[in-house]
Amino acid sequence: MSNRDDVKDDHSDPLGPSPEVPTEIPAGVDRRKFIMRSAVISAAAVMNGCARSETEQKAPPPAAAAPPAAAAAPSVPLAADLNVVMKAKGPVLTTVDEFYKVGPGPSSSHTIGPMRITYDFYQRATKLPADQLAKATKLQVNLFGSLSATGKGHGTERAALAGLVGKEPATVDPLFLDSLRDKPDQVFPVKLGDKSIDVSLKDVIYDATKGDFKHPNTMTVKLLAGSDVLLEQEYYSVGGGFIEWKGYTPPKKNAPKYPFATMKELRAHADNNKTTIAKIMLANEMSITGKSEADVNAFIDKIINAMTATVKSGLSMPEDDVLPGPIKLHSKAASVFKRAMDDKIEADRGIGALSAFALAASEENGRGHLVITAPTGGSAGVMPALVYGLLEVRKVDRQKVREGMLAAAAIGYLCKHHATLSAAEGGCQAEIGVASSMAAALTATVYDAPSLVVENAAESALEHHLGMTCDPVAGYVQVPCIERCAFGAVKAWTAYAIASNEIASRHRISFDETVIALAQTAKEMNSKYKETSEAGLALSVVLC
Ligand code: SF4
Repeated sequence: MSNRDDVKDDHSDPLGPSPEVPTEIPAGVDRRKFIMRSAVISAAAVMNGCARSETEQKAPPPAAAAPPAAAAAPSVPLAADLNVVMKAKGPVLTTVDEFYKVGPGPSSSHTIGPMRITYDFYQRATKLPADQLAKATKLQVNLFGSLSATGKGHGTERAALAGLVGKEPATVDPLFLDSLRDKPDQVFPVKLGDKSIDVSLKDVIYDATKGDFKHPNTMTVKLLAGSDVLLEQEYYSVGGGFIEWKGYTPPKKNAPKYPFATMKELRAHADNNKTTIAKIMLANEMSITGKSEADVNAFIDKIINAMTATVKSGLSMPEDDVLPGPIKLHSKAASVFKRAMDDKIEADRGIGALSAFALAASEENGRGHLVITAPTGGSAGVMPALVYGLLEVRKVDRQKVREGMLAAAAIGYLCKHHATLSAAEGGCQAEIGVASSMAAALTATVYDAPSLVVENAAESALEHHLGMTCDPVAGYVQVPCIERCAFGAVKAWTAYAIASNEIASRHRISFDETVIALAQTAKEMNSKYKETSEAGLALSVVLC
């Protein structure tokens, strides 16, 4: 038990110094703000195990006074029956092979998710009875919300078509996606039973950007017989490449050996068992999936290798390379790396090289090449930068990096569990912020930091991304995304440097408190700053 837990007893209100919250709305105080503040305090109390003040305990629950959704006034309210919303109530059950996904850039939610969705629909369609398939004439995809608003910049229509023709994100050749961009009129036959249906980019429709959607990233896929619908499914790309659909129920899983829903619980398992967060995560991974340690490590090795490959590939691109899209953005990873290596001061070389590694992987994402969601495509430069730097430059033991990947996954799981990994829900804090936090936990774990230091490093990195908006210029995951990955990587290192050198027990803010702030900030953020390219840099930058 750290001293910090003692400190919390004195200041159980994460929003301010006053532990007392009056039952009545005080005169002159905005009702909405009052209710919201009470709701946040309640959530913080539950997650941190802090006792609520006597006055708070007597107060009616916020829902009785007004629905939390109305109080939060989210710009795009999420439907309560989405699993991504509901699962915040149980223990974390996410596994590494669900979390770290290899797929084409530039966006896990707008590229990998839609490709997984149409591939899923294609699989369902193949199972229809032969007499129904015989009638089929057309496949149609409709994109809504953020998928429609910024899908063009993310290549969503190409990804959706690729899934329809049976391509999966992990194995699709990025050159196939490039060919769709270069020759958009191509037509592909899709075999469904004895029937062959021609599909092209014209079958992917950019539909309404605003509406009463269950999730900002909503899409429908239909198999039609003339105007009759043979099969239709509504899907949601809920962030990080995860998908759900109308009526979705999560797959049944085994119970984790060490159930946890908060960092406090996770760290308690580690500390009580005199082990590390990484080892607890490994035990859970094995108990949930039934896999052996060797199988888990084999998967993590695949991801580590893919991460180092994206950095190498990005660094090897010519210095005058120009990324696809209207921004005409020049690649800079190779130049930054070369020049940083000439720096006379070692520390400057280190920061320059780490930045270059992140730029390299992120530029690969911008090219639509294969990247790894950690947690998303837009943030796909952050974790690889640290993995590459630690493994290939510092030559740390690979086993340590495997453990770091597990600790990093725990951070991502908790953010997904209680907040979001989707920029369409939470802005860039949910992408680069979470990635940086994961990378800080990875680094601390690699250097054998105690569990409290791992938590503190992750907390610090996340805390200093809170409020960061998503405003990709022209809807392309390039500006500010590519440089932002470099900043996320450097901030991860800074967070580790502070956490490993401060008195750990004096670190005032817990990771769980910061995740609550992430969720709350996501809810209150204006929708213009949630991957819609309607504000911020997306508005102020003029493309000539
Ligand atoms: S601004 Fe951030 S969240 Fe938005 S697309 Fe870029 S990296 Fe992703």
